Amino acid sequence: MSCLFCSIANGEIPSATIYEDEYLRVIFDINPASYGHALIIPKTHSASLLEADDETLEHVFKTARKLGNKMISELGAEGVNVIANCKEAAGQTIDHFHVHVIPRYTGQPEKDVLHISQDELEKPDFEALAVKLALN
Ligand code: 5GP
Ligand code: ZN
Repeated sequence: MSCLFCSIANGEIPSATIYEDEYLRVIFDINPASYGHALIIPKTHSASLLEADDETLEHVFKTARKLGNKMISELGAEGVNVIANCKEAAGQTIDHFHVHVIPRYTGQPEKDVLHISQDELEKPDFEALAVKLALN
């Protein structure tokens, strides 16, 4: 099975690389939402964050923290979005787990990175909802 981000992460398709180690590659998004928009792409394939293993998650998010701080210190960003779209309904277009690290600059035009527009939601039954989502 050929996967674009497997090929990019493993260097079979050359791309401007910000950082690389044995676990992952960090590149610039081809269609950036802001100046410096980067993608952290693990070298091991999983379909999305929801299927990724603990070790991969740890490396990816530690890298996101480092990169986000660099975007603030070196690019003058005032904030950073760290986003993983999971599945098509949530805007995932490439079915290989990746994390967007998007520097944000106040006063500059940026895309709506979450693509969520919603009129006011009815207040849910939080207790019932919490039971449904219980993690243990
Ligand atoms: P998703 O929508 O799956 O969360 O994010 C996929 C991202 O990958 C998009 O922002 C898109 O612009 C970017 N992208 C798609 N193909 C390529 C590519 O070949 N090279 C790079 N650098 N980015 C890509
Ligand atoms: Zn892949």
